[in-house]
Amino acid sequence: MFFASDNGGPAAPQIIDAIAAANTGYASAYGNDDLMESVTQKIRTMFEAPEAKVYLVATGTAANALGLATLTQPWQTIYCHRVAHIEEDECGAPEFYTNGAKLGLVNGVDGRMDPAALESAINYTARAGVHNVQKGPLSITNTTETGTVYTLDHIRALTKIAKSAGIPVHMDGARFANALVSLGCTPAEMTWKSGIDVLSFGGTKNGCIGVEAVVLFNPDLAWEFELRRKRGGHLFSKHRYLSAQMDAYLTNDLWLKLATQANDMSAYLAQEIANIDGTSFVHPTEANMIFASWDRAGHRRAQNAGAYYYFWPSDHSLDGDDDEKLAARLVCNWATTKDDIDQLIHHIKG
Ligand SMILES: *Cc1c(COP(=O)(O)O)cnc(C)c1O
Repeated sequence: MFFASDNGGPAAPQIIDAIAAANTGYASAYGNDDLMESVTQKIRTMFEAPEAKVYLVATGTAANALGLATLTQPWQTIYCHRVAHIEEDECGAPEFYTNGAKLGLVNGVDGRMDPAALESAINYTARAGVHNVQKGPLSITNTTETGTVYTLDHIRALTKIAKSAGIPVHMDGARFANALVSLGCTPAEMTWKSGIDVLSFGGTKNGCIGVEAVVLFNPDLAWEFELRRKRGGHLFSKHRYLSAQMDAYLTNDLWLKLATQANDMSAYLAQEIANIDGTSFVHPTEANMIFASWDRAGHRRAQNAGAYYYFWPSDHSLDGDDDEKLAARLVCNWATTKDDIDQLIHHIKG
């Protein structure tokens, strides 16, 4: 009954097999391995972007911070949602790698930025004189941090504002696959065809061990990105093991199959929770994360039986009034089973 995060799940066997298969003989270091060439070709084909430049790093924080740094001057603002991962969970890495850029927080329900709020934030910055931070890139997370998905219309409403302000757009796709299968669109539609310039393309949470791709749809940014990755200590020397993971992830649609499994389990879990009296949802379930409330007694039974998940916010306690409703964040991953879910539901019900 592990629902704390999708990064607590195991790596898919195909990824482990690919690493073992890559572990023979010699391969050029630092991204010059043959598997990396294959990864680049696969991503260019998938994204219908023959010019795109593709780089691998081992963490999503590095992908975001390095990708954003290539788009941002130190005196600029990066616009993002108030609960964006770059704001809440990266220990200031975007600020550090950009050499001190500011994050401009934008409100919006269910983890999605409200276009009007983005526009007014940009307009406010645009008053800028020499005393003020200047406008800089927009960063959109899809799947959002609250488990919702920006539709293509949502994305385009935001990127249109960014483009008319002359600012570039980054997408944090730590859960890109979950959003994509939820929307049923193409990778190109969710990115460059909707105005995305730089993508952090997640692998880790969806069945890899540790690999994320940075996709630069504008190849002019490539050299600067390469220098920043090296200088930031994120250019792997035994790179073939990153390449092997990403190559297997993209082979035979594995990445889509894994995300579909996680999303399907999440839909099943949401349906089972909805069937329990007195439960309610904090955010709609659109990908592989569920935000729901039920009474403390149910949480106590589930957690005492070994269910592992975070309260939302995380400082709720099991001590207190039995009937008080407390919200939880439950995350499914590719390996989540119906049995895990049935057990959890059984204990919540009591
Ligand atoms: C997990 C996650 C990341 C990457 O986190 P790392 O721990 O650095 O790999 C980035 N963005 C979002 C939205 C995430 O959920």
